[in-house]
Amino acid sequence: TEVHDLPKTHQTVGLDMGVADLAIASNGVKYGTFNARWLEKQATCWQSKFSRRKQRATVAMRQWNHHHQLSKVELNDYQNWQRAKMTKARYQAKIANQRKDYLHKLTTDLVKNYDVIVIEDLKTKNLMRNHHLAKSIANASWYQFRTMLEYKCKWYGKQLVVVSARNTSRICSACGQNDGPKPLAIREWTCSECRAHHDRDINAAVNILNCGLKAIG
Ligand SMILES: [Zn+2]
Repeated sequence: TEVHDLPKTHQTVGLDMGVADLAIASNGVKYGTFNARWLEKQATCWQSKFSRRKQRATVAMRQWNHHHQLSKVELNDYQNWQRAKMTKARYQAKIANQRKDYLHKLTTDLVKNYDVIVIEDLKTKNLMRNHHLAKSIANASWYQFRTMLEYKCKWYGKQLVVVSARNTSRICSACGQNDGPKPLAIREWTCSECRAHHDRDINAAVNILNCGLKAIG
């Protein structure tokens, strides 16, 4: 199928990727993370049923084979754990599909509304090394999100700019003053130079936007 450019809106946006929210836009819009709590609970529940049943089947198989030299059984002969395996996989696939669907809607929306979208290179976030579960899930979403933005911008004649923004949470987006590092708990702050009051995430998104606009001239 042929892909046509989407109409230009002359709007630009910077996005700060987060864990509590998937992304915070430079205009203050927050895009929440995808969550499917009920499905995730089911997946976790079937995951542990699966492990338990597999363990039990392994023990039963070994015992049977130890006592019956002529009629051996295999692990696959125990249907109970295989059913759990299938149920678990079905829930996991459902979650993955819904998340993909959510990210599709979000990225299509962004590409429709903005001509230039600036995101930061996620390597600068340094979260790849982080083993915390919430962050590893966020990571997966971020990469999927970025990939979708990349090809959709190409399809629809929009521009995606990836910047390796540094100190985006330290610099005042109004005057450029570097106010130094702030603990993550500090969600709002006032610039010591120009007295501008900032929401931490929105300020970072504005810095990312400015950085990207500067990069493309
Ligand atoms: Zn300032």
